[in-house]
Amino acid sequence: MLTARLYYANSYVKEFSARVVSAAPLPTGNYAIILDRTVFYPESGGQPADTGFLDTIPVLDVQEQSGDIVHITPSCPQQQTVSGRINWQRRFDHMQQHSGEHVLTGACRQIVKASNTGFHLGQVSSQIDLDIDVITDGQLAEIELVANTMVFNNVPFRIHMVTAEELSNFPLRKQPAKHYDSLRLIEVPDFDCCPCGGTHVNATGEIGLIKIRSWERKKNGIRLDFVCGHRALTDYQGKNEAVKDLAARLSVPPAELAAAYEKQADRLAAVSKELATARQELCCRLAQDLYAQAPETAGIKIITHTLANVLPAAVGELARQLATYEYTVALIAGVSPDNTKTHLVFAANPALTPAFNMNTALKAALPFLDGKGGGSPQLAQGGGAKPSGIPAGLTAAQKVLTGK
Ligand SMILES: [Zn+2]
Repeated sequence: MLTARLYYANSYVKEFSARVVSAAPLPTGNYAIILDRTVFYPESGGQPADTGFLDTIPVLDVQEQSGDIVHITPSCPQQQTVSGRINWQRRFDHMQQHSGEHVLTGACRQIVKASNTGFHLGQVSSQIDLDIDVITDGQLAEIELVANTMVFNNVPFRIHMVTAEELSNFPLRKQPAKHYDSLRLIEVPDFDCCPCGGTHVNATGEIGLIKIRSWERKKNGIRLDFVCGHRALTDYQGKNEAVKDLAARLSVPPAELAAAYEKQADRLAAVSKELATARQELCCRLAQDLYAQAPETAGIKIITHTLANVLPAAVGELARQLATYEYTVALIAGVSPDNTKTHLVFAANPALTPAFNMNTALKAALPFLDGKGGGSPQLAQGGGAKPSGIPAGLTAAQKVLTGK
């Protein structure tokens, strides 16, 4: 005899007693417990399994096996009868999301003539797949309005146990995958009707708010990401806090956030441009000074210099400016403002390559900075995490170039 599924008739039963039919050890060290009846829902139809307890033994997972329901537990019940209790908070959350899926599917069919081709109930949000290529923001808003109106109308979910012959009396959105002698149908009257073995709320009002968070293109259609009930409340609270925080930082009301962001972005672009010009001028002057002061060996100047408190762009700018001077090699290092990152740019005047190879010089310096990077004989750059290694790194690079 197959396990009697007590949740079929009533999803709200939280506790039950049952007879142990079999208890078999598993290779994992756990046990597979089969009872004559259960309220534990097994993982199926996109809905995760219930958890809970059999007496004091935790139920870790619940699976379907040839029509029976198998409770996975870490130890074996000692008595022939057990008292079971499901984690009601987890189950009711699943009931809200799963029931919401039925309503959302009905709304999608009504607004965009789409069929539900897949459902997944995740830990944070759930997804349904639809057999359409694209959806607009306007259609998403209409779907949400229709779905939530069904919630506000508090329409009862109806459960029908029907024979194969009686199926044609129902407006099924999805035909059963195979032939059954008897089938369980879930109906939201005049809205959605399909074969389903899952757990549902009594009436749509208990689903709470249904909110579509986003959509994306998928193979053979699109996927909607949504949350219902408690999850929708948590989602709203999180987003409200984020919006409030941003609005306070920008000193604007929430409705003006986008405009305030645009203003900031424009300002940042203007400042970046100004900074690039200033950096160029500064590097030009610094390059003149460094070139004037640098000693010359056999007609060649190898200039090493470290910039503190800079972004990589300044290091590159100075190295490139110095490399415009004839018979000059620039080995420039920079340390980030937070003093945790280093950046090296080695550049040589084109007339000096390939005799002076910047890539080889860089490879000699990088180990002192725990860094990586590379480039050409004329220009090479890299970065590392050890500012204290810069002097030794630059000395090593110089040695490679001068052979001393
Ligand atoms: Zn269902």
